[in-house]
Amino acid sequence: MPFYPNAFFASDLSDNVINGVNLALKTAADEFGKYGPVEYWVLGTDKQAALDLINKFCERYYYGPMLPYCNSIETDETREHSMIAYQKIGENAILNNRPMGSAGHNGGFGRGIHNLTSSYPFNFDNLFEGHPPQEDFKTVLHEYFHVVQISSVYNLEREERESKIKPGGTIWMMEGAAEYMANYTLFKLIDNGTIDFEKSWGTLREKMQNKMNNGKLNIEENCPNSKLNEFTYQSCNSAGYDLGSWGVAYLINKVNNQNILLDTFYPNLKELGFEGAFNLAFGFTTEEFYEEFEEFLQLPIEQQLEIIPDI
Ligand SMILES: [Zn+2]
Repeated sequence: MPFYPNAFFASDLSDNVINGVNLALKTAADEFGKYGPVEYWVLGTDKQAALDLINKFCERYYYGPMLPYCNSIETDETREHSMIAYQKIGENAILNNRPMGSAGHNGGFGRGIHNLTSSYPFNFDNLFEGHPPQEDFKTVLHEYFHVVQISSVYNLEREERESKIKPGGTIWMMEGAAEYMANYTLFKLIDNGTIDFEKSWGTLREKMQNKMNNGKLNIEENCPNSKLNEFTYQSCNSAGYDLGSWGVAYLINKVNNQNILLDTFYPNLKELGFEGAFNLAFGFTTEEFYEEFEEFLQLPIEQQLEIIPDI
């Protein structure tokens, strides 16, 4: 269905935020495709503005006794991923003068939509030195890539869905693909002049070098000797993102097709399952890949960076 994503903003957000999120969402849909109704709900820092947005959200989908129920859930600050919890993150970032943000795909299956939520994307307002708008733009692309992934298994039961996009709870493909594709796409569009930012954000290779360093450090400190397929949301979570991006970059480079996930892997995931779609897209087994990738991780960084597009 040819829908562009829809965004909803708390009333305390600036035009910079509104325009930034809207452009990033349109860009994501143009680059990654359209997958039915996608709603991106953006919270600010003001509590009353958040409560108004929550009310708008609940009234959009619920009536009768479900309406106060929706409100009570989404205004519960202790509840992870409640809308008010996202508002708190933004409020605390300002209070503590620390750049903290969060965004996520929070389901929507029962309503036939993709429901995404974001805390205050302050980088669009240039609030913190060294954190330009590109960071928030990248986050929107990352979250939208989860729409691509989840769309590929959308109408399956929860367990089957999870086992296909995160087999055994492993997150390297889910988060690594979202993170790599978001970064690659952003740098590609900057490089070819499609989008323009005031300040530079460095290069894709610099970002990937940081991910290699951070990923290895994270393993050393938190889960020594863990392999790519052992990272979960509970164990070595951030290595799942950082080295997961490298795993995906490795696979993309192997088949020399930056669109392989969109063209082949995800369109076949539902039918063939993770292993089958992986074999089809990349021409070898996950077992063989995990072994090769461990060897790749031992190479000097200069050699590793050769697989990353120079943009
Ligand atoms: Zn993610």
